[in-house]
Amino acid sequence: MLQAEPHFAEVFASPKARMATAEEVVSSMEQHGVDTSVVLGTNWCSPERSREANDYLLESAARHRGRLVAFCGLPPRGTEAMSLEVERCAAGGARGMGELRPDVMGLDMSDETATTPLAEALERHRLILLLHTSEPVGHPYPGKAGLTPEAVYPFLLLHPNLTVVCAHWGGGLPFYALMPEVARALERTYFDTSASPFLYRPQIYSHAIQMVGEAKVLFGSDFPLMPQHRPLSEIRSLSLPQRVEHLVLGGNATKLLGL
Ligand SMILES: [Zn+2]
Repeated sequence: MLQAEPHFAEVFASPKARMATAEEVVSSMEQHGVDTSVVLGTNWCSPERSREANDYLLESAARHRGRLVAFCGLPPRGTEAMSLEVERCAAGGARGMGELRPDVMGLDMSDETATTPLAEALERHRLILLLHTSEPVGHPYPGKAGLTPEAVYPFLLLHPNLTVVCAHWGGGLPFYALMPEVARALERTYFDTSASPFLYRPQIYSHAIQMVGEAKVLFGSDFPLMPQHRPLSEIRSLSLPQRVEHLVLGGNATKLLGL
């Protein structure tokens, strides 16, 4: 299977790589006091595998109603297939699609013709798009070849009505929110903190909140790669105002997901 799925293999071929079942996610949530988790799909080369994985996410979310919220993976072939899968997953209870790695899908995010049907399908169903974004500089890691701020920005300009979450702090995009025109383009863009301790010093929280605003930062762990307790204790050690900590650790997500 790993040979047929080179991008999956890039991240999961290592003996250190971790995977979790829905039950393991819920059990870890219980252990660390997490009420609700967004569980994400990934990018498969095979459309059948993509569909099967999405079914698992949707069934798991239905089974653990309220505890797990499904974001489904986009299928690999063509914009029409993507739009159809958005429809199907929306009907199955998905709240978003992603985590999307456009490089894996061969999707040019600056191409209006290629991305518009997808954006329209997502908007029609009020679904959120979660993008794997990464830094243009710094240490390499499996999956780093994602969307840099430079690559994601044209997409955000093309689809201003789409709600987007840029994972891993947007690869540094929050810094450019200090430019007024970028701040306007980020009106419906959020940033998650997944894998933060692997990437940034803890000061990233207060700096990013200053740059994009406290309403735009969503706690993410990257479980099971990163167990929830590590970033949770990092955030709690920062002495952020209680209100801000509450927003980052769930208040913003609750509002965004309409929970
Ligand atoms: Zn990612």
